[in-house]
Order: sequence, then structure tokens, then C-alpha cells
Amino acid sequence: MPQSLATMAYIVATILFILSLSGLSNQETARRGNYYGMLGMAIAIIATTLSGAVSSTAYPILIVAILLGGSVGAVLAQKVAMTQMPELVAIMHSLVGMAAVLIGFANFMDDASSLSGVEKTIHEVEIYIGILIGAVTFSGSVIAYCKLSEKISGKPLLLPGRHFFNLLLLVAAIGLGWLFLHQCASGEGCLPQLMLNHGGALPLLIMTVIALTFGVHMVMAIGGADMPVVVSMLNSYSGWAAAATGFMLSNDLLIVTGALVGSSGAILSYIMCRAMNRHFLSVIAGGFGTGGGGAAAEVVGDVQPINAEETAQLLLAAKNIMIIPGYGMAVAQAQHTVYELTKLLREKGKKVGFGIHPVAGRMPGHMNVLLAEAKVPYDIVYEMDEINDDWGNVDVSIIIGANDIVNPSALDDPNSPIAGMPVLECWKGESTIVMKRSMASGYAGVGNPLFVMDNTRMLFGDANAMLQEVLKVLKA
Ligand code: NDP
Repeated sequence: MPQSLATMAYIVATILFILSLSGLSNQETARRGNYYGMLGMAIAIIATTLSGAVSSTAYPILIVAILLGGSVGAVLAQKVAMTQMPELVAIMHSLVGMAAVLIGFANFMDDASSLSGVEKTIHEVEIYIGILIGAVTFSGSVIAYCKLSEKISGKPLLLPGRHFFNLLLLVAAIGLGWLFLHQCASGEGCLPQLMLNHGGALPLLIMTVIALTFGVHMVMAIGGADMPVVVSMLNSYSGWAAAATGFMLSNDLLIVTGALVGSSGAILSYIMCRAMNRHFLSVIAGGFGTGGGGAAAEVVGDVQPINAEETAQLLLAAKNIMIIPGYGMAVAQAQHTVYELTKLLREKGKKVGFGIHPVAGRMPGHMNVLLAEAKVPYDIVYEMDEINDDWGNVDVSIIIGANDIVNPSALDDPNSPIAGMPVLECWKGESTIVMKRSMASGYAGVGNPLFVMDNTRMLFGDANAMLQEVLKVLKA
């Protein structure tokens, strides 16, 4: 393929990626956004393969790799449950990080490079930075995956002097970078026994170990309740790792794509930090979301249970109903029953809305995806900020498998691990029905005083089964 055609294809792919991102920003256009992204990626792969960047003798290897990777991806995508999506995303980021590290070392070992002078130094800086970001992304994502899939504890690991330790790692990485460039120029520091027969191999390897350690330490220090921000931050890191790889390979499309992923991940992290009242910088430094240090207050008081029939009566008496879905709705797969109930209540003249917390469920947009799947109209789905001043007008709010996102202690207990996180203040409405199976805590592992408030009733049981019962009574 002539270079001019490849450049044209790259521009088209870039435009498609931008259209894809803008499509994904809205539920109504998200499907189209996905198609744009798929088309852009197909064009990018074909153009890169045919542009001369890959020698034709490598085509069979490339085809086998694409078929193998594509099949593994297709099988995983079919099998993965919606609730496991954040884990899948985390492990995918680790692959991007690993690819950046491997490409960095391959570039470092490549004898065919004809660069010299400043160009050579710039290339070496690209290799160093690419491997650095890639290694942090790789090990951080593996730890995030292990925490999200509960293979290791979600509790933050707070080593004494951890900020000093992080600073030490940073200073060491900068010092090793200087040594790397110096040794690359002088040809010192070869490690022929490891096939790294180039100057600078030793500092490069030591920096890789340091970056891997930093990734592990950074994510280990972050509490489970703050994992959503970590996943989106690692998403951003994986984008920057890809951009650095693009510089290494002199591939403009990879630079643009990496920058798009890197900046959109950073913007999402910032939005989520704002939603959880956290500081972005403290996420990067690690150890964030660990609360004020003291123990969260115990929840004391009597629980007032309610049954399906009484719930139906309460709903029939209400004019304005707000539904707040959480992780439990995803577990119970209750979204279709919820919408059936919504339709019935609207037919009976009730005003029904959905209140969505930005970190409800286990991934950004989790609830929106489930409600869209059940075909809930977008115009009755509200964001937290749209409804948090309006609870005085709500007669009944139904909390379906949500816990942390409706926990009043986030606002009034400075010792709570989720202190400062904005929540849906449903207790300000006339009455609240909480649907869950037991008094167990949510993801953050803290008790919820909402459950013992005077105007709260607990409807215990699987959310889907209980909603079916309420529906049966209402239909009867
Ligand atoms: P929570 O995890 O706080 O609570 C979910 C509740 O659902 C549990 O208390 C559980 O109680 C209940 N539940 C589970 N299964 C069922 C079922 N079958 N039927 C009825 N209830 C059920 O979820 P929230 O959505 O309120 O909050 C999200 C939390 O997850 C936040 O702490 C957030 O920071 C964190 N997080 C968010 C991510 C995101 O990007 N959105 C990613 C990772 C973490 P019981 O066992 O008694 O039934």
C-alpha cells in the first residue's frame, strides 16, 4: 500500500475513534459509537499491516496472532458476566502495559536502527518512558484485577513511610534514566548473558523492576471502595503507554489513539473523583480513600421489615416514586422486572424516575447499561445532581440492592471510610423501601444507618423475586 494511502487510512481511523468517543458519551448514541470504534480499529489494523511496517514474511505469524487473540477475546466477551466487567477491563489494561514493556525491550535490542545523534537520544527516551509507564500499568492493573475479583483483600495496605517510599522510587527512576542515556551513548552496562547486548541494559532492567514495584505498591495502598477511580486511572495510564509505544514505533495513529484513551481516562478519573469527593493527586500518590483514620460508627436501632403486599400498598398510595438501583440489582438481574413495575405504576398515573449514582454498581455507567438493556426510557433516568435537591417531593423511594451510595454516614460520620462521598439523600423523602437479602454491608464494608431510620422499611429477599411478588400484588 502506498504511504499516502496509509496516511489517509490513519486519518479516517482517527476520525472514527473521535466519533466513537463522542458517541459513547450519550446512551442513545453509544451503540453507534461502538460501531465507529470497531470500524476504525479494523481500518487501523489493515492499513498498518499493508503499509510496509510489517514485512510480508511476518504475515502468517500476524494472522495466527490475530486469530488467536480475537478468538480468546470473543470467548471471554461472551462468557463474562456484567458484574465481572471491571475485572475484565483491568486485566485488559495489564495487557496494554505488558505490550508496551515488550515492545520497548524489542526496540532496545533492535540492531537495525539507523538513528544517530539527537534522534537516537530521543528514541532512547521514548523507550525508557514507554517501558516505565507500561510496567506501572501492567503491575497496577494485575493488582486491581486481583482486588476486584477478590483474589486478594480489598483493604488498603498502608506501609509506614509509603509516600517517602514512592518518592524514593520516583527519584531512583529519574536517576536511572540519566544513567541509561549515559550508558547508551558510551556502550557501558551491557548484559550479554540476558541477550541485552546494548549499553544501558542494567539501568533499564532495574528501572523496570522499580516501575513494577511502584504499580503494585500504588494499587495495594488503595481501598476497595475507591477501585472505580483506580480502574479508570489505569485506563488512562494504558493510553499513555500506547502513545509512548507509538512514538517508539513512529506510528502516528498509535500516538493519537493512545492520547485519546489517555486523556479520556484522565477526564473520567477526574469526574469520578469529583463524584466521590476525592482529590485526583492523592489517587496517584496511592493510599487514598482510607477515611479519617478512626473506626466508623456502629449502626444502632431497630429495623422495620415490610412485606411485598405492604410495599404494593405504599406504592399505590404514592404519587412520586424514585427508584435507586445498585449493585444488587445487577446481581439479581432484576432490571427487566424493575421496568415492568415502572410501566405498571406509570399506567396507574404515578410519576416514576430512576436516580443514578456515578459509582453505583461495579463500573462507571453500570446501572445505565442495565436500564438501557431493559429499555427504560432515558428521559426518566436522572443523575445524582439532578435529583439530590428534590427529595422533598418524593413520596416513596425504592432502593434496589444499593447500599454505599445511599449511606448517610458518608455525610455525617467523618470517621467513615466513605466520608465525604456524595450520596443519594433518599432519607429526605417521605418514606424509603430498601430491598436487599440481609443486613450485610456493601462494597465499602461499612454499616448503613439508613436501614434503621424511622421512615425506612426493609423488604428482605432477592431483589428480582421480591419485585415479582410486588408486581403480582399490584396486578391482582
Ligand atoms: P454496594 O456494594 O454498596 O451494595 C450492594 C448491596 O446489594 C449489598 O449490600 C447486598 O446486600 C445487595 N445485594 C446483593 N445481591 C442482591 C440480590 N440478589 N438481591 C438484593 N440485594 C442484593 O453497592 P452500591 O451500588 O450501593 O455501591 C457501589 C459500591 O461499589 C461503592 O462503594 C463503589 O465505590 C464501589 N465500586 C464501584 C465501582 C463503579 O465503577 N461503579 C467499581 C468498583 C467498586 P445483601 O447481601 O444483604 O443482599
